[in-house]
Amino acid sequence: MTCKCLTELPKQIMAHCNDQEQYQAKPVLEASFKDLVFSLKDGEMTMVLKSDIKLKEKGLKNHKITTITFTYCPFCGVKNREDHD
Ligand SMILES: [Zn+2]
Repeated sequence: MTCKCLTELPKQIMAHCNDQEQYQAKPVLEASFKDLVFSLKDGEMTMVLKSDIKLKEKGLKNHKITTITFTYCPFCGVKNREDHD
């Protein structure tokens, strides 16, 4: 079983923003995670968060970027998918 954080948290943030008139001039109509990706493993599609890591290599001026995805939800700690052994 996976958690609902990635779909529920944006809804909570949107509701919070819409309750705070001093912070928000216009109503928020939609909210979602910017770094959400779909992961396919063993035929199972799962929504996961990703994070970019900057790599500074010797002799290169610009950083290279590599991307990781979170195996466990960073908000509640539940694993993204069941292990099928
Ligand atoms: Zn969660």
